[in-house]
Amino acid sequence: MYIKKMSLFTKTKEEEEAEKKNQKICIVSIQSGQPYDTSEQPNTHTCYYVNINFQQMKELYKVIKNDTESENQIFKNIVHHIKDRDTIVFFDFKCCSDCQAGATFLDEDKTLTVFKMINTLTRKHCNIVVGDHSMASLFNHWDRHKMDFKSPIKIHDETTSGPFRMTGKKEDFMASDYPVLKNLGDLSADNKIQIQFENMGGTKVFSINRDVKVDVKVISKGIPLSGRSHDQKENPVHCEFNYRKGKIIVSQTHWCNLTNVNSNVDVHKIRREFSTQYGEDCANQFEVEYTSAVRSGNKERVNRVVSESVRQICSATPATFIIQKKPTPKQEENKLKLGGYDNNLGGYDNNIDDNKYV
Ligand SMILES: [Zn+2]
Repeated sequence: MYIKKMSLFTKTKEEEEAEKKNQKICIVSIQSGQPYDTSEQPNTHTCYYVNINFQQMKELYKVIKNDTESENQIFKNIVHHIKDRDTIVFFDFKCCSDCQAGATFLDEDKTLTVFKMINTLTRKHCNIVVGDHSMASLFNHWDRHKMDFKSPIKIHDETTSGPFRMTGKKEDFMASDYPVLKNLGDLSADNKIQIQFENMGGTKVFSINRDVKVDVKVISKGIPLSGRSHDQKENPVHCEFNYRKGKIIVSQTHWCNLTNVNSNVDVHKIRREFSTQYGEDCANQFEVEYTSAVRSGNKERVNRVVSESVRQICSATPATFIIQKKPTPKQEENKLKLGGYDNNLGGYDNNIDDNKYV
């Protein structure tokens, strides 16, 4: 007799609706060849993802600022997405060795260009993302005269490392436009999100300058779990504020350092993320691992499978995408429309020499 296998995973109407929504995201990641923050996280909404280095950023700045025609296909693509008002564009300054441990962006000249770039981009509705060392390089050099107001973010002299606990509310994460924050809120089954990180040595700490009249929305807070906990206080981990016609999104830590998710996560949504980001084989693999962990009755094992999955979803590296991700029909369509840029990821393009600095 045939017995229908009961599956823990069936799609809800709400999930199917969410998949249909056609929100387009373009992410330009600025980094050296070796980022400390390896989180990339393109998803089905990502119509274009590209890595460029700081020298290329300088050239791109001239193209955008002067609105000149560029021969460079990558620059052409970026300009195209900036002009397309249906696409949300993020310029993600990655924490990498070029951030000089939070002192400058490579050198004085590049640091100045970063600020000019931010001013130009945010006037064109683009968003800026910084984290850890790039966050420190940005706010340590923030000039109140050029940027219109004093830095709303204060970088502390002391740093943090090791086990670290972050807490925040689902609704605050969901309210962000930034895909990683939004997705995490969406994945969470509890209203209170609690995640443990193993922060790298020298991870920056910041607080909000409340004397600056800028509405900074704090999304999460965190505290180190080891050491002299009695004299350690909670500081913001994720926050964002409006700047010109865009947003500046700030993260103190990196998703690649996530070790444990202590709050409940919606496993159907994890499966859905794997399916949309990596394809059905990967989603099935998660389903098998999760189901087997649940059936073993070992709660720690279940938590480990869930935590590792959330880390992978939040901080996917390009290698895993190149192996596993197939372009969605929408990406194929965009690829054809734009012409020129081509690889099996339909817009994912990292064939750039990252090590050439002039
Ligand atoms: Zn870092």
